[in-house]
Parts: sequence; C-alpha cells; structure tokens
Amino acid sequence: GLVVTGATGHLGRLVVEGLLAAGVPAGDIAAVVRSQEKGAALAARGVGLRIADYSAPETLKDAFRAGDRVLFVSGSEVGQRVSQHRAVIEAAKEAGVALLAYTGVLGGPDADFTLADEHKVTEQAILDSGLPYTFLRNGWYHENYTENLAPVLEHGAVVASAGEGRVASASRADYAAAAVAVLTGEGHENRVYELSGDTAWSLAEYAAEVARQSGKDVAYRSVTPAENRAVLVGAGVPAPFADILVDVDAAIEKGLLARGDGDLARLIGRPTTPVAEAIAEALK
Ligand code: NDP
Repeated sequence: GLVVTGATGHLGRLVVEGLLAAGVPAGDIAAVVRSQEKGAALAARGVGLRIADYSAPETLKDAFRAGDRVLFVSGSEVGQRVSQHRAVIEAAKEAGVALLAYTGVLGGPDADFTLADEHKVTEQAILDSGLPYTFLRNGWYHENYTENLAPVLEHGAVVASAGEGRVASASRADYAAAAVAVLTGEGHENRVYELSGDTAWSLAEYAAEVARQSGKDVAYRSVTPAENRAVLVGAGVPAPFADILVDVDAAIEKGLLARGDGDLARLIGRPTTPVAEAIAEALK
C-alpha cells in the first residue's frame, strides 16, 4: 500500500487528501501517526492507522510492510532527527519497502546551513540502506512567511537579515502534490528532485505585496543577524532556534533557497502557486 508518515502534520495531511482526491482507495492508504486520537479524523475516512513514534524504534516495527511505497515526512524535532530518522530507515529496510520517498531540503548536500544538516545525514543513511528512494528536496514553504503576518501587519515591517536574497518558495499544497505524484506515479525510483517555486521573490517584494493586498504600510526592514536574533528572541523564539533561523536568513542572502530547477512544476504538471496567492489566503 501507500504509506504516509507525519500524516497528522500540515504536509502529510495534504498528501493523504491528495491521494484520496487522485482516486486512491482509502483502504490502500496507511497513515503513520503518533496516537490513535491524533489519527481519528484519518481513520474516519477509512485510512489505515499505524501508530509509531520516530523516537521509539520498537513502535516502528509495524509501521511498514513489504512492498509499501512510503512517503517519509522528515520530523519536526530539530536536533533529534538523526537518531529518529535512522530508526525509520532501519524499520523500512527491515520491512522491505518498495520505495522510500524522503522530504529533505532544497540543494541536498549543497544546502550550507544548520537546519539542513540532519537532512544530509538522513539522505546518506537512505543511500546506505540500499532501499529504492526518491529525494524530495523541498524548498521553503510560502506559509513559513504567510503564517506570520500578524506581527508584520502590527509593526508594518517584514524583519529579516537576508539582505537582498531571494526565496523560490511554493505552497505546502504544491509540495504535497509532488509527493502524491511520486507515490502514485512510475519511474521515480532513485531520483532526486530539487523542488522550489517557479518565481523567486525578495523580502522587499514580499513586503510590497503584503502592503498592496492589506492596504497597510508594510516595508522590508533589513537588519543585521544580531538584530534579527534579538527581535526573534524578543518575540519568544527560544535562543537556539533563533540562531537556526538567523542562519537560514544568511543562506537566503547567499541565494541557497532561490534555485529554480523547475522540478516541482514538472512533477505536479502545473505552475507552482504564486506567493501572492498565499498572502491573499492568509489575509482572509
Ligand atoms: P508539521 O510540524 O506540521 O508536521 C510534522 C509531522 O511530523 C507531524 O505529523 C508530526 O507528528 C510528525 N512527527 C514529528 N516528530 C515525530 C516523531 N518523533 N514521531 C512520529 N512523527 C513525528 O510540519 P509540516 O507538515 O509543515 O512539514 C513537514 C516537515 O517538513 C517538517 O516536519 C520539517 O521536517 C520540514 N519543514 C519544512 C519546511 C519548509 O519550508 N520546507 C518548514 C518547516 C518544516 P504530530 O502530528 O504527532 O505532531
């Protein structure tokens, strides 16, 4: 069957929806979730539940079956993901899955920023496993920005230390559609996809679009990494994660999240969603 891990998360949920919309019978889909309660809405639609935690290898024993085509959604517990992901790969190998598709990060080994480190180790572990794989190297989500519009509108500022760097983001739904295409399609074994939006925008352009749509004064406030860190910590972001986000901005300034390989539009068979649409959605 088709298996989606992280199925109760933002991306995983969209993938399950996409599989159902593509006509995959619910009974052919299994969702790997952390608890029965969390999976209740999926179970109600007839999707099979497999309860497992990336942190508890024994729980992963029944997560996969021989011949499964698996979307392995990377975990969200930054700093713990190397051992967690190794456990998932080990379980997939033990079960003998037919495909392990992994959501990594745009650029793979070239992604020279801290947040990418665990993805690099994970990709290598998948290669070492010898399992048929697909690397879905996801670029940034529009939603990383558009889900944080409240303080932007409040202060009239998009604060970042990314200089004039550009971001080729796409919507979560676009990345989910790519995963659906890989799970349901053919010929994706041992392929690497650099997934990103068709258009790369600068933070100044982003701020201008938010201003245009909201009718409010909003501008890009380009700050130094130290100032950015202080703003993030002041807003309640834990210091270690603030460091990681400041490091992402440095990567954006270097252009590491701007590459436009076109793989995402090709996989989904349509243009990627413009950031303006995600802004409109968030302003509703
Ligand atoms: P979410 O945080 O919404 O979802 C993460 C999913 O992973 C959840 O379903 C969560 O389970 C599951 N998960 C986390 N830890 C474990 C664990 N120990 N055991 C089992 N399941 C676990 O993130 P998104 O869906 O938006 O994004 C998917 C992944 O993409 C993220 O986890 C992260 O690795 C990466 N990401 C990418 C971004 C980008 O811009 N490209 C931005 C942010 C994240 P539960 O529902 O139980 O919490």
